[in-house]
Amino acid sequence: MIEQQIKAAIRDIPDFPKPGIIFKDITTILKDPVLCINIVDAFVDQLKGKQIDVVAGVESRGFLFGLTLANRLGVPFVPVRKAGKLPHTVKQKTYDLEYGSAVIEMHVDAFEPGANVLLHDDLLATGGTITAASELINELGGTVCGFTFVVGLGFLGGKEKIAPINGDIIVLAE
Ligand code: IMP
Repeated sequence: MIEQQIKAAIRDIPDFPKPGIIFKDITTILKDPVLCINIVDAFVDQLKGKQIDVVAGVESRGFLFGLTLANRLGVPFVPVRKAGKLPHTVKQKTYDLEYGSAVIEMHVDAFEPGANVLLHDDLLATGGTITAASELINELGGTVCGFTFVVGLGFLGGKEKIAPINGDIIVLAE
């Protein structure tokens, strides 16, 4: 049900950000407040019984539902940001892109060592970003206990890439 609602709301944008790519535009989801609530409800429902100490959301669309989800779970939200955005002392992780590389950062005091961290992003594509975020969390002394995504592009193999990492993988629409 939630899957159909999400799929109906998403907009495909051909040739964005470059020719040949069909971009899944989730801003159309954000215009529907009932759907936004249903999305967070679906995450909360599927996460029942899990020990989660903190939700980490990946810049920038991972902040949209990540914060609300953390609020609903009654735990802190922490951002995983692109390099140079966080003001306090950070730890970095560099990861490979199709062409070149990217750097993500988290505050060194984002969570206590040993914390169970739920990683959230809007969309799972190749899994490169979320794998790098998961490694960064490990390096900061946390344990990734699960992943939540609103959308997954199954044909890009992201689920298979993150499967070896411990934790449930929740993708609402694939
Ligand atoms: P991955 O690292 O290849 O899994 O790409 C996932 C990251 O890129 C996430 O942070 C997404 O927000 C972003 N992303 C990749 N493709 C799309 C898309 O079609 N729509 C929205 N975000 C996307």
